[in-house]
Amino acid sequence: MSAKPKLAFFSFASCEGCQLQVINCEDELVALLGAVEIVNFREAIDERRDDYDIAFVEGSITRPEDEHEVKEIRERAKILVAFGACATIGGINAIKNFQPQEKVSQYVYGDQAATFPSYPARPVHDLVKVDLKLHGCPISKSEFLEACKCLLAGKQFTVPNYPVCVTCKLAENVCLYQKGMTCLGVVTRAGCDPMCPTFGNKCIGCRGLIDHPNVNAAFDVLEDLGLTLEEVTKDFTMFDGCHKEITEKK
Ligand code: SF4
Ligand code: SF4
Ligand code: SF4
Repeated sequence: MSAKPKLAFFSFASCEGCQLQVINCEDELVALLGAVEIVNFREAIDERRDDYDIAFVEGSITRPEDEHEVKEIRERAKILVAFGACATIGGINAIKNFQPQEKVSQYVYGDQAATFPSYPARPVHDLVKVDLKLHGCPISKSEFLEACKCLLAGKQFTVPNYPVCVTCKLAENVCLYQKGMTCLGVVTRAGCDPMCPTFGNKCIGCRGLIDHPNVNAAFDVLEDLGLTLEEVTKDFTMFDGCHKEITEKK
């Protein structure tokens, strides 16, 4: 019998909520563990092994020592998956990119700031080649499980490259714009089973922008509705503050 593929989970600057989503796959974990061996997963097991095939990397890169570690993970893994918004687009951590870094460090670490050097948050693909991005804050359990099935079968897993609006319409939701609200679903990547609009909340872009979004049109619509450029930019940079098309509008 051939050995099971080995999975490992790593985290950089993050809340580790995406890893928690894996543990939350309670109904499917037994089947998953029948198909793979997990050799590194600080949140769930004591074992630490470096002989993994697939590495799931959560978190953004914010410290000099992160760079060395993520490069080592890349060298060891056959497949590297950026796992969650922090890893794929910078996520919440990138909010600090819009403040002077010294001020941020002093706010968090006080007079010990020099002991904890950090720089603006960057997504994992800025440092190493990423084979697959699983988006969201947190990641979607069903998308994670589907991606695992594909990876284990040697098939390509394709993340949606159309906006949340498409799935929102399929769910027969009344558009929030018709209720006088705003929503970033028009340019945000689908795949979340339009969780926020379905429950009456605006999409705040946690899955990042689709490829080739018409950011200018989205900004125009939101500004026409009375939002200032600053307010629109704040909405877009809550998760996607590393995206050039957005930051260049500031
Ligand atoms: S993407 Fe969200 S849930 Fe996942 S680690 Fe980052 S902050 Fe936590
Ligand atoms: S509520 Fe948001 S996601 Fe749904 S259709 Fe309207 S803009 Fe699109
Ligand atoms: S609707 Fe938008 S903010 Fe909400 S989970 Fe989906 S992508 Fe994230």
